This record gives sequence, structure tokens and C-alpha cells, in this order.
Amino acid sequence: MALLILAGFAAGKLWRESTIIKVAPVCETTPVPSRGDAADDPAIWINRENPALSTIIATDKDLGIGVYDLSGKELQFRRDGEINNVDLRHGFPLAGRMVDLVTGSNQSGNTLAIYQVNPATRELEEVAAEPVTTCPPYGSCMYRSALTGKFYYFVNSRKGEVEQWELFDNGAGRVAARRVRHFKVGARPEGCVADDELGYFYLAVEKKGIWKFGAEPEAGDDYTVVDRTGWFGHLVPDVEGLALYRTSNSTGYLVASSQGESKYVIYRREGDNEFVAKFQIIAGNGIDAVTHTDGLEVVNFDFGPAFPEGLLVAQDDKNDKGRQNFKLVSWQAIAEDL
Ligand code: CA
Ligand code: CA
Ligand code: CA
Ligand code: CA
Ligand code: CA
Repeated sequence: MALLILAGFAAGKLWRESTIIKVAPVCETTPVPSRGDAADDPAIWINRENPALSTIIATDKDLGIGVYDLSGKELQFRRDGEINNVDLRHGFPLAGRMVDLVTGSNQSGNTLAIYQVNPATRELEEVAAEPVTTCPPYGSCMYRSALTGKFYYFVNSRKGEVEQWELFDNGAGRVAARRVRHFKVGARPEGCVADDELGYFYLAVEKKGIWKFGAEPEAGDDYTVVDRTGWFGHLVPDVEGLALYRTSNSTGYLVASSQGESKYVIYRREGDNEFVAKFQIIAGNGIDAVTHTDGLEVVNFDFGPAFPEGLLVAQDDKNDKGRQNFKLVSWQAIAEDL
């Protein structure tokens, strides 16, 4: 009987996962400067005045952070240290202006890297008030509370520490930070993403799955399990990058890198994050396939004919022509099979 139930469960799981959506990259970025496993995590800056001039901001975790245009060409590279994860929020109030703020978890000195995007040059400019020392950083992401309008930086360590830092104008046009929350999880996390409108903080726990916390500083350390690795879930460890594709203020998709199988899992953003589909980034358009992705990002925005329904950027472990890089995928190619 138990065997029958197990067989039925396995068949159900195989059936649910039998259709893997396959998409090819539209283009790829200039390789990162460092050799080996160095490219790690991307963010996407939207240029609202001219969407075609939007950028990818992405890390080389051994050396620094780069900026790339939508054809993948490198525009800037800053040798600022071992920046592992990067995230961005538009519209941060700084010295009477609204700036687009970028944060990175810098493993050199365990600090918080803070930049603004210069909209004219599209380059990153450092705006940290003073060095902010955090737990030895690994994964990180940002959160803008819809409740209070406050901006936050989440950072975690290999030992499972999680810290939440509020970001604010120091009164002199620089960005300062104060720690407002910290807790521990009993395993190694890394990838994370916050849902600004719904107030959630999702954490990828590498060997275990995706855990969902409240994103407000008072939320405590209770969590629910969105999905797990192994037979009772859809993920193959390590669970890596997480990103959100918004279709409205409360609906859309959560996307996760299921690194051990070189695939991505899509869940509903709303409700209990029901499993939707898996996809894979295969070779095509003269570009090699994507395997073993660490960080990823996705944005729902019309960037023009190549990315009319948004852009997904994924780190690629093995680039056919040299050092690691990032691949750009049109969300439309995924959405037409959802
Ligand atoms: Ca890697
Ligand atoms: Ca990121
Ligand atoms: Ca990892
Ligand atoms: Ca590849
Ligand atoms: Ca390539």
C-alpha cells in the first residue's frame, strides 16, 4: 500500500514536471573579468525616459560590479571588491531628489556597497555615507515597504545569519544604514528577494528550499515553506537566485534557480505560491545554453521589441567563449507557454 502511494506520488510529480518550457537567450553580456566561478548576481535598471537605454548591473564576486547595456555590452566595471549579490530600487529620496539606489554585499571587509545610477551616463556612483559593517555577507536584496515607504537592505551569511538594515539619507546627500532586525536560520541561505507590495521576504536555503518571512522589521523569524528540495518538492539543490515578475500590485510570479538541475521553477506570487511550471534556457540565437545559475533577476517592463513583456537575466556557469557571463532572455518566450 505504502509503495503504491509512493509510486502514485512519484508519477504525479513526474507528470507535473513533464513539460519543461524551453527558451533561448536573446543575447549575452561581456564576460566578467575574473576567471573561474566569478559572475554571480544581476539587477536591472529601468530607464523610464528611454527604455532601450536600460541596463543590467551585475557582480563579479571576486572583483567588483559591472554595468551592461541591453545588448550585453559592458559600459562600466568598478573594481570595488568581492561583491556577491546586487539589488536595486527606483525612487530613493536623497538630498531632495529621487535616485535609483543599488546595494551590493561586499565580502571584502564585510561591508554594504551603496551606489546611485547616474541616469545620464548610466554608470554607478558610490553614495555610502560611511562603511557599514554587516555579518560576513553572502546573499542580499532590497525591500521598499509599501506600508511606510522605508527602504531596506537584507543580507545573510553562510552561517545563516539574516540582517535587515534601514537605508536613509544622512542629511548630507549620502546614504547611511541602521540595523533594525536580525535572526538566524539553521542552514546556509543565499539568494533572496522581497515583495514590496505584499510585504514578504523570500529566502533560498541552499540545501532545503524556499522560506517565506514577513519583510517588515517587526515580523520576527516565523516562516512558511514555499517549496523544498527532494521528492516532496520541485527543487534540486542548491536553491539559488530568486526574483519576482509582477503582473499587478498583488499578482505575478516568483522565479527560483534550481541550480542542481540547471532549471528554473515558477510559482504564483500571490496566495500560497502554488507551483506553475519549470523552464530551461537552452542554446539558440548563436548563444550557448545556461547551466548552474547562481543569481537571476526578472522585471516586467516593456523594454522594446526584444523584451516587450520584460527581461530575465541569468548567471551562466559555463560560457562557451571564455569567462562566465550573464544571459538575457525575453519573458515573452516563457509567458507564451505558461
Ligand atoms: Ca557558481
Ligand atoms: Ca540580484
Ligand atoms: Ca549559493
Ligand atoms: Ca553556458
Ligand atoms: Ca557565449
